[in-house]
Amino acid sequence: MTVTVEAGTPLKRLNVALAREGLSLANMGDIMEQTVSGATSTGTHGTGRDSASIAAQIRGLELVTADGSVLTCSARENPEVFAAARIGLGALGIVTAITFAVQPLFLLTAREEPMPLPRVLDRFDELWAENEHFEFYWFPHTDGTITKRNNRGAGPERPVPPLRGWFEDEFLSNGVFQAANWAGRAVPATVPAIARISSRALSARSYTDIPYKVFTSPRRVRFVEMEYAVPREAAVEAVRELKAMIDRSRLRISFPVEVRTAPADDITLSTASGRDTAYIAVHMFRGTPYRSYFTAAERVFTAYEGRPHWGKVHTRTAEHLAEVYPRFGEFTALRDRLDPDRRFQNDHLRRVLGP
Ligand SMILES: Cc1cc2nc3c(=O)[nH]c(=O)nc-3n(C[C@H](O)[C@H](O)[C@H](O)COP(=O)(O)OP(=O)(O)OC[C@H]3O[C@@H](n4cnc5c(N)ncnc54)[C@H](O)[C@@H]3O)c2cc1C
Repeated sequence: MTVTVEAGTPLKRLNVALAREGLSLANMGDIMEQTVSGATSTGTHGTGRDSASIAAQIRGLELVTADGSVLTCSARENPEVFAAARIGLGALGIVTAITFAVQPLFLLTAREEPMPLPRVLDRFDELWAENEHFEFYWFPHTDGTITKRNNRGAGPERPVPPLRGWFEDEFLSNGVFQAANWAGRAVPATVPAIARISSRALSARSYTDIPYKVFTSPRRVRFVEMEYAVPREAAVEAVRELKAMIDRSRLRISFPVEVRTAPADDITLSTASGRDTAYIAVHMFRGTPYRSYFTAAERVFTAYEGRPHWGKVHTRTAEHLAEVYPRFGEFTALRDRLDPDRRFQNDHLRRVLGP
């Protein structure tokens, strides 16, 4: 039950091809536009109680290293490279092929339901424990959230009806949301009122479909994002603190905060490496000043030993990252061995991994 794909394969093509063969990945993120190598190299994840990031579903990979040799890596072959190269940040070599664990195609029943934030936070552990995939979106300046619970079931398939899908997923979640963000960007004072309307716009719904149609959705409204991984047991406190920070500030935030989870994994620089994790993501509409919000949010997250998503905005340097990743030195030692002349070095890697 594995499939091997070329590293540049878009996730969308992989998901569709797998479904045609009656197969699926166990878990995935919010979109499927990324390539398999881009998604895994940066630790792209969805939400899961038992199933982890896309990289954690890798069973083998092929890596072209700085001296031109081709390394085949798995838990048995070059295991020390396999441990790190699943989330390699492009620093260890060029991934050319990836072998994923797959499962027989299954059905997921999604239950989306508005819920007041205090109730979500009070019940967070319970909601996490009772569901295979729990997440919520909180709308700043309000107490409104949309919760999402995805669980496997026997079916039957009950997809969102096309007209309702278009109205909710395209018209409301993208079209109207885009217009609301334009209005908020033009007149920031309207943002809290818009947030109140946005938080009430989506009503409860339930549907059953194949995994990629439930996990992923169209994201057409452009945004900048910062996401931090904190220990799962710190999630509720961190969200409360983020809310208190926003309430105290003059910030106007028109985009929801997304909260997800992942079980601990064994990948050297995974944001969930060695610890059960909750992800808290803050977003700003593209073109809106975001630095003061992200700086204040980052202060909250780093106080909880936060680890930034490798593919999203953050300001951390190797010094901080070495503190929050117990296996950081293992990764840099491997990099020294595989790329002693720094053929793969760039400004970003210099900042996050060091010279
Ligand atoms: C709308 C939107 C929604 C998103 N949702 C989520 C989400 O739900 N969860 C989540 O965790 N993230 C999410 N992301 C982040 C996204 O998954 C990452 O930014 C991902 O890296 C993008 O993939 P890409 O194929 O475009 O990557 P690229 O930009 O092509 O690659 C990213 C990095 O991966 C490395 N890389 C790529 N290919 C190779 C290779 N062949 N060999 C070695 N290294 C390589 C390089 O370091 C490169 O800089 C989202 C992003 C957007 C824009």
